[in-house]
Amino acid sequence: MSAPASTLILTDRRFLEHEAGIGHPESPARLRAILSDLERAPPGGVVFAEPRAATKAELEAVHGAEHVARLERLAGRRARLDPDTAMSEGSWQAATLAAGAAVGAVEAVWAGRAANAFALVRPPGHHAEASRAMGFCLLNNAAIAAEAARRLGAARVLVLDWDVHHGNGTQHIFEARDDVMYLSSHQWPYYPGTGAPHEIGVGAGRGFTVNAALPAGQGDADYGVVFHDLFLPAARAFAPDLVLVSAGFDPHERDPLADMRVTERGFAAMATAIAELARETSGGKLVLLLEGGYDLAALAGSTRACLEVLGGRREDFPKGAGPEAPRAVAETREALARAGRPAPRT
Ligand SMILES: [Zn+2]
Repeated sequence: MSAPASTLILTDRRFLEHEAGIGHPESPARLRAILSDLERAPPGGVVFAEPRAATKAELEAVHGAEHVARLERLAGRRARLDPDTAMSEGSWQAATLAAGAAVGAVEAVWAGRAANAFALVRPPGHHAEASRAMGFCLLNNAAIAAEAARRLGAARVLVLDWDVHHGNGTQHIFEARDDVMYLSSHQWPYYPGTGAPHEIGVGAGRGFTVNAALPAGQGDADYGVVFHDLFLPAARAFAPDLVLVSAGFDPHERDPLADMRVTERGFAAMATAIAELARETSGGKLVLLLEGGYDLAALAGSTRACLEVLGGRREDFPKGAGPEAPRAVAETREALARAGRPAPRT
């Protein structure tokens, strides 16, 4: 079989039928903005496909059966699950299709049917805990995809989460394990309150959770420091067989929910860096999953920038980082060293 040149986009109009409530920032307009931008000018080398719903076994590899059953009972109804998280009539279907898109993206990339993939889904997933919906998230799409990759034969799976919020759910689901590494950059202190530098994993998982807790105001160059001095060396040493990205675009400078200063170029640089890492260790097997991002134009532009990178564009981080990112990186390194799991430098 010749090498596939295409980027697979898994998405579905049924994601628009999940409504979290009037005025809620995680609205159908988010995905509509991305899709109408892509339809207006489709990036080269992308192939669109519709996902299947995740199976109960795929969901229950991550979530408690009671959590799955409770959400399923709410199918076709409106319900509030926590102060930020609600279901509408179409939410259960959207959530199972979102998880299925994440799994399907992994399957396609693992089998070599696509060079890489971007699952453009909602609801997002990284706040969903094993037994609880939370923070706009019903099912943890990234965790479900990571477990699917393990079952397909990936010995080590990397989850990189650049959403501006810490992915508490993903961290907790894998924190005691050494086969799934979780790297997160996030605004700190901020929602959901987890992701401190000293959270480095537990038991056999010590050293396989790496949190870059960043103060507000960090831009493209600052994220470059986090990637080059912390994330990429850790990822290289871990040598994953497949790389998943929880791609939230709420660190964007125009995002209304957070206070970072990342631009489309910064997201392209992050995607370039992780795509190179994936080529080094994983045969290029890279899957992006949409998480947050609440400025519609920023969301569409940043998604497009990442798709261009999946298609071969290269972008470097700019120079000119401030003092805060090196400080945050040093704090995480100290926590890892104190625990006897020092982070590699290159
Ligand atoms: Zn977020």
